[in-house]
Amino acid sequence: MRLQLERRAVLSLGANLGDRVATIDAAVRALDAIDGIRVLLRSSAWESPSWHPDGEGLSPDYVNIVVIVGTTLEPIDLLDAVQAVETALGRERSQRWGSRTIDIDIVAIGEMEHAEDRLVIPHPRAHERQFVLQPWLEVDPRASIPGHGPIAELAEYAHGDAWKLP
Ligand code: ATP
Ligand code: CA
Ligand code: CA
Repeated sequence: MRLQLERRAVLSLGANLGDRVATIDAAVRALDAIDGIRVLLRSSAWESPSWHPDGEGLSPDYVNIVVIVGTTLEPIDLLDAVQAVETALGRERSQRWGSRTIDIDIVAIGEMEHAEDRLVIPHPRAHERQFVLQPWLEVDPRASIPGHGPIAELAEYAHGDAWKLP
């Protein structure tokens, strides 16, 4: 279903297998090509160690970016769209937090707070992840996460390490 109104959504893209930057570039192009999604802003690429409950750095490092999109899609249709891009780019859903060619998470959609089985907005772990907050700060330093506060403050406490790729 299509809205008249365009909402702003924040997406986090990550890759830790294959040519990580090339896959992320392809994902941004694929997102922008979808009817109802316009890519408005894109951060630099940031790198961070992989995370897993068994420990950090057990798998290859990730490259992450944040993109701000304008979208007329309903939230669940936006999820379907990002998951279709993941599948088209070879994402295999094997185990949770396992390595992947591409992961696209919906971090926030405007000021929306929304929870159902398939979709929780804002993303319940984005506020504590440097690999989300650092690239997001680049493109929208005054942003806030509904229920958590300004990302500039969240970044002071978030765990993990993330460094900008040259
Ligand atoms: P994490 O969510 O901790 O980053 P992950 O990205 O590895 O972990 P996935 O296997 O990619 O997890 O996704 C599992 C499910 O999470 C998806 O099938 C989707 O239905 C659900 N999900 C819930 N909220 C969101 C969201 N905001 N963005 C993307 N997926 C979400
Ligand atoms: Ca994720
Ligand atoms: Ca995901």
